Amino acid sequence: MSQIEITLPDGSKQSLPSGTRPIDIAQSISPRLAEAAVVARVNGELYDLTRPLESDAALQILTPKDPESLDVYRHSTAHLLAAAVLELYPETKLGIGPPIENGFYYDFDRAVPFTPEDLEKIEKKMWEIQSRHLPYERVYTPKDMGLKKYADAWMKCELITERAGDVFSEYTLGPHFIDFCRGPHIPDTSKIKAFKLLSVAGAYWKGNERNKQLQRIYGTAFFTQREVEEYLKQIEEAKKRDHRKLGKELDLFSIQELAGPGLIFFHPKGGIIRKLLEDWMRDQYIARGYSLVYTPHVARLDLWKTSGHANFYAENMFKPIELDDAEYQLKPMNCPFHILIYADKQRSYRDLPVRLGELGTVYRYERSGVLNGLFRVRGFTQDDAHIFCTPEQIENEIVGCLQFAVDTLAAFGFDKYEAELSTWDGGASGKYAGSPEQWKLAENALMRATERLGLKVKLMPDEAAFYGPKIDVKLVDAIRRPWQLSTVQFDFNLPPRFGLEYIAEDGKTHQPLMVHRALYGSIERFFGILVEHYAGAFPVWLAPVQAIVLPITDRQNEYAHSVQKQLDAAGIRATVDGRSEKVNLKIREAQLQKIPYMLVVGGREAETDQVAVRNRKHGDQGAKPLAAFITEIRGLIDSKAVSE
Ligand SMILES: [Zn+2]
Ligand SMILES: [Zn+2]
Repeated sequence: MSQIEITLPDGSKQSLPSGTRPIDIAQSISPRLAEAAVVARVNGELYDLTRPLESDAALQILTPKDPESLDVYRHSTAHLLAAAVLELYPETKLGIGPPIENGFYYDFDRAVPFTPEDLEKIEKKMWEIQSRHLPYERVYTPKDMGLKKYADAWMKCELITERAGDVFSEYTLGPHFIDFCRGPHIPDTSKIKAFKLLSVAGAYWKGNERNKQLQRIYGTAFFTQREVEEYLKQIEEAKKRDHRKLGKELDLFSIQELAGPGLIFFHPKGGIIRKLLEDWMRDQYIARGYSLVYTPHVARLDLWKTSGHANFYAENMFKPIELDDAEYQLKPMNCPFHILIYADKQRSYRDLPVRLGELGTVYRYERSGVLNGLFRVRGFTQDDAHIFCTPEQIENEIVGCLQFAVDTLAAFGFDKYEAELSTWDGGASGKYAGSPEQWKLAENALMRATERLGLKVKLMPDEAAFYGPKIDVKLVDAIRRPWQLSTVQFDFNLPPRFGLEYIAEDGKTHQPLMVHRALYGSIERFFGILVEHYAGAFPVWLAPVQAIVLPITDRQNEYAHSVQKQLDAAGIRATVDGRSEKVNLKIREAQLQKIPYMLVVGGREAETDQVAVRNRKHGDQGAKPLAAFITEIRGLIDSKAVSE
């Protein structure tokens, strides 16, 4: 039998018979490692622990500690779900069943809808199959045979026709389940320790609403029961904070059927918050040396041909509008517009850096199935800026962008965040634009900037956009969910496409470096994140109504209105609830509206020019002179305090 050479992560080498499996090697290193093992990495690729090794390889055994393990584990749990469904409902046809963030799903075609009781039954069946310690077996099938075998499984046939090579891999699990699947998987079901089915929802085959609607069962899976429970708690909490629910209850925004999906209407209360977000950002632009620009919502399609978007971004764009002189395109991005402003005159190195910023509204086509409240929309406003500078300036510019990003998070009460630096593959694949020198310069600048700011950053090799490396900043919200927010992104593609240049000190023309950066990302989405982070109880400076005056009886209505007038004059957004209702009911409703301060006024307060202050979080604060309350709340507003 031929020998193969296996290199372990510590550099040690073993000569072993061809056909040795990763699990055998794990076992020979230590039974504990074999017990913990989830999957193997062979020459950089994930491999089943039971898949025979047939040539020299670098091998790493992955355990739950390795981030890649969880997806494999969840994908295997999805197979377990499908196997259970087939045992219970053999007439069901299988779609796809991938791992997703926090869990997995599987799509099923079955005439009868799954009920919550069915989910319980399926979950029980999954545990039963789990306890049989069934192996996930990888088998190979020639394409023509596979098509015959799957003749009555229409979705699998479609996938095999589209994706399979001459021979493709399948995974079995028990007698009923076999799936066209690339894998890899865990060795057997005994490795599955903790999961929970969550819900069933309609989903179109391949996400296309022209296709058949399937039933998608969602589940969560973690390596431990404790993590599953924590996640379930987080889901409960997230439901209470859902910005779509709160958006309605607090009358912040709506989506109008008549106007179309994914298009947001800000109501007066949402509108005031949006104005404050926009003002904050524009003021920061000015303070940090950006120039404010305004650009149109449409432009000739030719512009998008020059930029390349008409080609590589076509799927995400609304269809062009035919006018008498040309076709026009709703803008999916602001970049080409800012480029036109930059290129409108000759630039010298003395003019650089040029920082052009705009709250620019863009329109992108998203399939209606993926639209989600304020988080996935078809029209949104980016706080978008583009920086054009020299190579000497770039590091400071990146430092400025990242500092700005971190300051933005802090201003809105986020003190936890994560940063990711996406780099290229060194040019190996040829899929990236730009020269190795450009990539090196840009990646170094990004790296050094994070070092200068003491920002911890996770490296994401080969995750860059094709046109340049980037840093993403993700915030972590009040219930520990990460949200991708700010991006600082190099672009080696657009400057040459538009022939951008500047006259350098040497008197010659050079191409400037270009950086895209958006900090809120989209104002709509950031607004939605704020709603969920604060559960609708916005910091006082952002609250649409900052104080509500609650007269105890009608006799205090006049005093209540004079209080409101004085608050008004002090620039505080206040209303009066003058209805002839019990004050307790008024308090309850104001509390539900998450109004920071309720000012209860009875006969005594009216006589002494006082207000009895009640805070939405801290309750009764006692009576105090109106002037003292105004000073207090102004302090919170002026300092833009994030808690009261
Ligand atoms: Zn699979
Ligand atoms: Zn851009």
